[in-house]
Amino acid sequence: MMLRIKRVPTLVSNHQREEEEEKARRNGGGCGRNCLNKCCIQGARLPLYTFKSVNKNVNEKDLIGDEKKEPPVAFLDSLVLGEWEDRMQRGLFRYDVTACETKLNEGRHLKKRPTEFRVDKVLQPFDANKFNFTKVGQEEVLFQFGASDDDEANFFPYAPIDVGDSPSVVAINVSPIEYGHVLLIPRILDCLPQRIDRESFLLALHMAAEAGNPYFRLGYNSLGAFATINHLHFQAYYLAVPFPIEKAPTRRITTTDEGVKISELSNYPVRGLVFEGGNTLINLSNAVSDSCICLQDNNIPYNVLISDSGKLIFLFPQCYAEKQALGEVSPELLDTQVNPAVWEISGHMVLKRKQDYEEASEENAWRLLAEVSLSEERFQEVMGLIFEAIACKIDANGNTALGMGEKAEGESGTHPMMVPGKQECLALRSALAS
Ligand SMILES: [Zn+2]
Repeated sequence: MMLRIKRVPTLVSNHQREEEEEKARRNGGGCGRNCLNKCCIQGARLPLYTFKSVNKNVNEKDLIGDEKKEPPVAFLDSLVLGEWEDRMQRGLFRYDVTACETKLNEGRHLKKRPTEFRVDKVLQPFDANKFNFTKVGQEEVLFQFGASDDDEANFFPYAPIDVGDSPSVVAINVSPIEYGHVLLIPRILDCLPQRIDRESFLLALHMAAEAGNPYFRLGYNSLGAFATINHLHFQAYYLAVPFPIEKAPTRRITTTDEGVKISELSNYPVRGLVFEGGNTLINLSNAVSDSCICLQDNNIPYNVLISDSGKLIFLFPQCYAEKQALGEVSPELLDTQVNPAVWEISGHMVLKRKQDYEEASEENAWRLLAEVSLSEERFQEVMGLIFEAIACKIDANGNTALGMGEKAEGESGTHPMMVPGKQECLALRSALAS
């Protein structure tokens, strides 16, 4: 499938933007970095995309007869990816993710920002003195993203920033791991710590739904599960292959009163829950966000993958950092310096050493991911906590052991599958279960 990038014709030129920035600097005497803080935000403008906020029924047949309106702009192709490419051409990235092999040989890419907070606490207060997204340049922000006031999606190419009503924004990740790697930062000026709440998670689902492309996924890492910045954000990127996790077999555990189906991954090295369905998008969103809130309130680190345009969500409690701290991870795994966050757990391995790339195999990936997973016993315990929190009826015995889901697992042959890609240096796509 070819992906075509279409630019938004109405978008401001760089020249216009510079003029506006210059004006802001003259008026407000900014800090010179044209950031998002008070020093520079006065008079700033950014594109604004608003989505139709009515609680759409997820059930497709109910949408028949609902006339499909043309979106005001092609959200994924023009806005997310078109603007991302624009920033690539303007040289805002630390390296070129589409041609990074030489960088790898020079050993320069993917320098880790040193983690500036404790790894054993999932919830920690925001610290304005540490790096956060209000310090990024306005040129790194692609657009503002929020719910529409009326009944349709809208696009305003040159919208003022309402500082009093902290906007959610989509910004580039200056150290991309894939094409179109962006960050969704809910209510950026409110400086929320990395912590899921209902409203922010729903916003992330809306972004996945607006993109409407199964190859554009969002991910979330909690503190203690390899988030590196304690300022609320989701990551997202475009990669046109199915992730191994998306092909893993599942077993149905239960369906909530609101129609959200919850399953357990089977035959995958990391134990996790799968959420789909629900009578409305909000039902699905709340089931997942309430589960996340339960985990973080219990200080259990976790990762979330939002797949299939927001219709399929994976939740992984994990314990790798804890094992690391306890000295329980083997030196060979530690040597790879791979941090198993949401993308790695989903089967998209970001490898740092050339040697690891060359030796990459399903076995090696599986060995790493097995260390990430909770034990079966602990996973059952954690599921118990989650189901209590979301008030889920499981069965009369309180037993989570399992009815057969519709995706009954066959013997799934696990043969290694490398998906060749142009960024081979950066990424191994290892199919863990196919
Ligand atoms: Zn500033």
